[in-house]
Formats: sequence, structure tokens, C-alpha cells
Amino acid sequence: MTKLVKGFFDSNHLNAWKYEFLMNDLNNLAQNSGFNLLLLPHVEFTSLFTKAAGLTSTIVQKEFFFCHSRNNVNSQELVLRPELTSGIIRHFYQNKQLTSSQKHNVFSYGHCFRHENPQKGRYRQFLQWNAEQLNFQPENIGKILSLLKTFLLQLGLINQVSIEINYLAKQQLQLAFEKLKKHEKTLPFCELCQKRFLVKNIYRILDCANCQSFVKNIINLETFLNPQQKEEYNNYYLAFQSFFPPTSIIKKPSLTRGLDYYLGLVFEIKFNDANWSQNTIIAGGSYCLQSFDDKISSGLLGFGFAIGIERLLLFLQETNSKYFSSLLSKLQNEIVIGVLDSVFFLDAYQLQQQMLHLGIKVQVCDKVYSFKDLLIKALKNKTKWLLIFAREFKQEEKIIVRKITNDPKNRQQLLSSKEVLDLFKNNNEK
Ligand SMILES: [Zn+2]
Repeated sequence: MTKLVKGFFDSNHLNAWKYEFLMNDLNNLAQNSGFNLLLLPHVEFTSLFTKAAGLTSTIVQKEFFFCHSRNNVNSQELVLRPELTSGIIRHFYQNKQLTSSQKHNVFSYGHCFRHENPQKGRYRQFLQWNAEQLNFQPENIGKILSLLKTFLLQLGLINQVSIEINYLAKQQLQLAFEKLKKHEKTLPFCELCQKRFLVKNIYRILDCANCQSFVKNIINLETFLNPQQKEEYNNYYLAFQSFFPPTSIIKKPSLTRGLDYYLGLVFEIKFNDANWSQNTIIAGGSYCLQSFDDKISSGLLGFGFAIGIERLLLFLQETNSKYFSSLLSKLQNEIVIGVLDSVFFLDAYQLQQQMLHLGIKVQVCDKVYSFKDLLIKALKNKTKWLLIFAREFKQEEKIIVRKITNDPKNRQQLLSSKEVLDLFKNNNEK
């Protein structure tokens, strides 16, 4: 038997339900605030990402998982998606819905794939959750901010995060590049950044994990903005301050995104916790739709954010967040059916089926236990009701119905299966 592939992971009964709950919460919130769900395939044409993300981005240079068909083994035409936004744009473009008269508020989620070094809360297959506004107008920024805030409140994280923001503009590229170029030979730029100098890709140099530390001392992007851009940046800043605790908003001039298509506001949300401060949990910003296809009109913008679900889950788990403990109670089985003899299993599963059909959550113990052991298990698992099939009541077709309580009165009764259904059906309706 082969082993799990490096950088990938299994989710079992200990944590898989947490994914389900978190995704459910996010999806409901987005749906309730006017975003529509869009589900996309895992495989796209490679060119979708090379065009918009940029040829010198780390994703394109090093992190693609290519897919090939049987008759075209060496082709790099298809790739497992490294992110969601590009596919979302592709969808609306292909359906001729990216025009100046149409707006789209959309959310999507699913697995993405990047061949990077696995690290804490980061895998080669990861679950991303995105919300995007296409044909975005800056005055509508509150729509995304309101969603973000509600989400952080629901998770109990609103006072535990910092929001770093910055503003990227095209002419910064040229100005910052000229300034940085003077240091090209004297500073220890990595090999990839030396290539980036050739194609004048300043954002990727600012963003480079190897070179960031000395580059940020030379370049402050905000100083390259024109007055109109400075005003727009300030309006965004004020909008963030009106939604979030003002001290949590930090202007960070070295902040860029790992993808070339971003233009205008960019932001990252990080945990304040010292062990986690390097970890971005939510990231987003505005982007130019034309960078995905030259035929899209140049004024159209998109704005959105992505959440790294694994990292978020890991944080919630490690910081003992109340979020999951409150959900755990919903998962507990309040009613359990036990059998004292294996001849009753079929009857037990039939009763379970009838109860499930009525919307009553109930589980059957898959092993034969003694009466005493069933009681011990029930106490341990905080079960509220035990329904027990025993040989001595087989003739009269009765089931022992035991309420797990300290009160000795009316603790136990004998009921037919129809009476059992009536009892819990009524309990359920209350
Ligand atoms: Zn570098």
C-alpha cells in the first residue's frame, strides 16, 4: 500500500466536520448578504494563470501542478488551479457578462494546488474561499467590508486581527523601478529577482521573500502616488476604519500581492497572536479585469478577498476558540438505540430509519452491550435517551425507553415502536 503524498492531508472524523461547519457558515453569510455561489472546475488552461498572475510570479515560475491527458504526456497546457479568482473572471468573460452595465457579486470555494514547501497550516492542496465583486465601484467597498466584519465577528476574531493595507498604481512600477535599479549591483538580489529586473517587475521584487528585507528600506510605494490616488487610498483607509477597530488598520507601504493583476487597494488580515503574526489568513484587493484578457474594457475593476481555510482552522483549534465548542453540542447524539442480543440489530436499524425519516437524530450502537455497559456509555457521552431491545420483551414487541436522568421517577418505560415514534415526534415538535 502506498502512503499519503507529501504536502497533502486526510481529514478524518476529528476535524472534517469543522470544515463543513466553517464552510456552511461562510456560505450562508455570503448568500445572505447578496453574493451568488459559483462553483468551478479544478482544471483550467495554464494560459489563464500565466497571463493574469504574471510570468515572473512564484506561482507561475515554480508552483504549477500540470495535468496531462494520456495522449499528450508532456503537455503543460492544463494545470490544477492555483487560485480561484482567475477562474471566476474566465467564467463571466466566457459568458459575455463582463460589461460596464453588469455587476456581479459572487462567492466560490474549493481546492487549489500549489507546489510549494509545506509549512504550518499550508499544504500543496488547500481549500480557498473567495468573495468577489466584478465591475466594482469604490463607493461599494462597504459590501465586502460588511461581509468580512460579520464573518470575523461570528468567529470571535474581530479583536484578534490586524488589517494591513496598501495602494498599488501603475506609474509606481516605473518610478520605483528606476530607484531600485540603482541598487541592482550593490544589493544581494536573488536569482529570480535578477530576472525580474529584466522584465521590470517591481511588485514581485517587493514581494520576494528573499529580498523583501532590504528592499523595503529603499522603497515606499505611497510616495509614488499622484494626488488623486492618494485621495482614493485615504477614502479606502477611512472606509476600513469605519468598519473595524481603528487601531487594527495599518498602512504598510511594502505590502503587495503574489499575483500581478492587483491594482489599487490591497490588504491582508493577520492574527495578532505572536506565534501567528507572520501568517496571513485573509488577503485581497482590487484588480484590473483587462489584465485577464485584452478585449475586456480597461476601466473595469474587480474587488475581492480569499480566505485560507486550513490556516484559519488551525488557528481556531490551537487558540481554543469557542467557535467549535459551541458547534460540538449540535453534533452530539441525544438518542441512542442499543441491543442486548444480536437478533435485534435489524429491528434497531428499522426503528432508526423510521425516526430519521421524521427528522429525529438517532444512532444505533453497532455492538452488543450489556444493559449496564449501555448506561455507562450513555452517561459518558451525555446521551439523553436510551432505547434498548431486550429478549424478555420480544414477545410483546416492546422496547425499553430509558431517560438518562438522576430523577428515579418515570425514568424507564416500556413502549411499542409506534409509541416510541410518537414520543420523539412530539418532543421534536416542541
Ligand atoms: Zn528576490
